[in-house]
Amino acid sequence: MNISDDDVIFKILQKLPPRFHESVSFIRLSKDLSSTEVAYILRADEWKQRLKSYEEASGSEKWCDFCRKNNHKTSECYSKNKKGR
Ligand SMILES: [Zn+2]
Repeated sequence: MNISDDDVIFKILQKLPPRFHESVSFIRLSKDLSSTEVAYILRADEWKQRLKSYEEASGSEKWCDFCRKNNHKTSECYSKNKKGR
């Protein structure tokens, strides 16, 4: 690893928010990474976190396909059950 790469990585790691803690520890342990590899790891981490927060949000979100309203779920839909019986 050349000095400029090392310097860039050090600056990047210092500016990262705490949610990147796992990747930062990993990068610090792997001393032979280039700045390109570090960027790749951080990007992958970023996407992983976005996906996770998206899954959490959609999992707890209430949305009814029947009424097209977000105040209840389709499985809890009063209008749909009423019509079906
Ligand atoms: Zn409904």
